[in-house]
Amino acid sequence: MQQLEALIEEARVEKAHAMPVQSLALSENEAEVNRQMQICNACRYCEGFCAVFPAMTRRLEFGKADIHYLANLCHNCGACLHACQYAPPHEFAVNVPQAMAKVRGDTYAAYAWPPALGALYKRNGLAVALAMAAGLALFLILAIARNGSLLQAQLAGNFYAVFPHNLMAGMFGAVFGFAVLALGMGVTRFWRKVSPGHATAPAVGEAARNVLTLTYLDGGHGEGCNEADDKFTLARRRFHHFTFYGFMLCFASTSVATLYHYVLGLHAPYALTSLPVILGVLGGIGLLIGPAGLLWLNLHRHPQQGDVNQRPMDRGFIALLLLASATGLALLAWRETAAMPVLLAVHLGIIMALFATLPYGKFAHGIYRTAALLKSAIEKRQPNRLQLGSD
Ligand code: SF4
Ligand code: SF4
Repeated sequence: MQQLEALIEEARVEKAHAMPVQSLALSENEAEVNRQMQICNACRYCEGFCAVFPAMTRRLEFGKADIHYLANLCHNCGACLHACQYAPPHEFAVNVPQAMAKVRGDTYAAYAWPPALGALYKRNGLAVALAMAAGLALFLILAIARNGSLLQAQLAGNFYAVFPHNLMAGMFGAVFGFAVLALGMGVTRFWRKVSPGHATAPAVGEAARNVLTLTYLDGGHGEGCNEADDKFTLARRRFHHFTFYGFMLCFASTSVATLYHYVLGLHAPYALTSLPVILGVLGGIGLLIGPAGLLWLNLHRHPQQGDVNQRPMDRGFIALLLLASATGLALLAWRETAAMPVLLAVHLGIIMALFATLPYGKFAHGIYRTAALLKSAIEKRQPNRLQLGSD
């Protein structure tokens, strides 16, 4: 053990002296990842845990782009922190999930589009609160301005009597379109920076499978992540699945309703047994269970795991998802009562806040991690010039 520690220390010191120029170009958080990767590259105990370590073994040096790629490839499962013999209080202070999380947060801001709005990642809790206040105020005022009151009987669940369809489609289409554009521009900049290579069909298939099944939240052994302590749990993977598939079902519900409206000429309100309502209810339930579980896990996570400064961003996004699903289900339950206009205004205000903050909050992690997983799948199929790794 002492020999191994001496080797690691030697590698760390040698590296620091051999690459002064490159190290100078790194930010403090990036330099910390660089330092820890030098130690891990000498140790390699965690090689089978996730995609980060095989990618690490393909490199002897870690430039900015490498570090950004590895940081977004890390799922913050905690396995390598809880298994590490060099974790704090050891003097090497190796804490890979925390170091990666800090850089990951920096990359969201660095690649954000337009660049000036990248600062919103740093003040995301405030951004979410302001977006929610603005969204709620906008729709409550609009409802009163259009209808003279927030309580109206005998609308029979007709949302368009409160806000015309074209008005809602125009407003949400514009904000959602901007969110897609901003995220697309950001991830394109990231993609170019990390020089991914050519995406073949098998690589795309593998990346898609890893995204859809969240392979790397299994801790590398199938028993799951570490959360509060050394115990393994699949809870985070399962709650992520509820959240992701709940979100997709809600998206499918809106898409089907749009087809009904424009293609079939069938206008809302739709019956409880109709496809848009069934998809929306299933999605809403998923978006209640998933975010509630993720919030519970986030509140109980080991303080050394991840970057505590990003917790307001994590919790702000989770809260928006929870509120979106709770108000959506409440709107469905009471859509034929006099409370429908106020419930509709509140639900739309929260959805607007969710859409407006999508490109500058926690949602970005899904987009950047997907890109990193695709690069990983491409890289695995390329020759390993070091021939040292196990992949
Ligand atoms: S995290 Fe610790 S145990 Fe794992 S490879 Fe790095 S130094 Fe080794
Ligand atoms: S925290 Fe999990 S995903 Fe991240 S590097 Fe460690 S083992 Fe891999």
